Amino acid sequence: MTSERIPKDLDPTPWLETARSADEADVRRALGCEMPDVREFGALLSPAASKLLEELAARAQALTRRHFGRTISLYAPLYLSNFCCGGCVYCGFASDRSLERRRMGAQEMEAELEALKKKGLEDVLLLTGERSPQANYPFLKECVAKAARRFHNVTVESFAMTQAEYAGLEQAGCTGATLYQETYDPGLYLELHRWGPKRNYESRLDAPARALAGGLRTVGLGALLGLADPLYDLIALYRHVRDLQRRFWQAGFSVSFPRICPQTGGYQPAHIVDERLLAQAILAFRICLPDVPLVLSTRETERFRNGMAGLGITRMSVESRTTVGGYHKAGAANEGQFEVQDQRDIAAFCGMLRSKGLEPVFKNWDAVFQATGA
Ligand code: SF4
Repeated sequence: MTSERIPKDLDPTPWLETARSADEADVRRALGCEMPDVREFGALLSPAASKLLEELAARAQALTRRHFGRTISLYAPLYLSNFCCGGCVYCGFASDRSLERRRMGAQEMEAELEALKKKGLEDVLLLTGERSPQANYPFLKECVAKAARRFHNVTVESFAMTQAEYAGLEQAGCTGATLYQETYDPGLYLELHRWGPKRNYESRLDAPARALAGGLRTVGLGALLGLADPLYDLIALYRHVRDLQRRFWQAGFSVSFPRICPQTGGYQPAHIVDERLLAQAILAFRICLPDVPLVLSTRETERFRNGMAGLGITRMSVESRTTVGGYHKAGAANEGQFEVQDQRDIAAFCGMLRSKGLEPVFKNWDAVFQATGA
């Protein structure tokens, strides 16, 4: 048993019934609401809303155009290391999985950055596993500094840190951190995170606040959909964003929508999140958080990504490699953290966006304006 509890302000329980039993009238009220909040969010996740997906899509697309124009900002993930001392049962990098472990060397890092730069990318997300002797905080900070010398926007998706460590990353040129809670269900969280610092539910939950208090300008949140009842996690995720928005009103936020997929070790998700539910969740987030960037990675298929671009989603990874050294060495031998579904290169992906009247954006202008105090 755990003594850990989800904080009252994030607890989705009061709204689960709405999400399960809202009727068509509730959904239409939510669609017409000028300032929707958690009640409307719950209604938009309901089975009744699933039957009105076209109407949700029309509302979400209008809001996306109003707040983001027709732009889609592009970024690339860069895996720095697949060493990990964590024991997340659903992840192929967990310390009990047998795979070739690698950490990027200094020269290799330069080669990877060069390869990304040549592709025209200006926005890079640096990833590591849980803190390990091979890939620790000084290593991550050094990598941030190297990337920040060449890229306009450098963010990290790594272990949870102290506020002082986040402040150190900010000084090295980092603008933001992505940190998924994976699941907000405290009991399930303990079951899934078998060992390692990530097992500390509260510390992870509080890490985005520490990142912002440490001076990072943006945080990206998400839940690994399929681990728990998706309605529980989606409502808790929504409340987490809203709570942080109230506490850090000057900060920027984004929300990602990773779904659990088959991994080394054969973990089978307990809940199926099909494309229809995933689309509904994205549309509900857009309608209730109209100016928050929503992110979709190459975990998803070409067809799904094509459909969601501009329909709520405003930020997408492209031509991703989830292996260490995957950009400058085609077919790098080690296994990636997850299987990339959308394998298109940048030219093909941008061609698709333009054919839909969307404009790919390579530079994160927000970061540039904020950095100059404009
Ligand atoms: S999810 Fe992260 S912390 Fe957990 S095993 Fe994978 S790489 Fe390690």
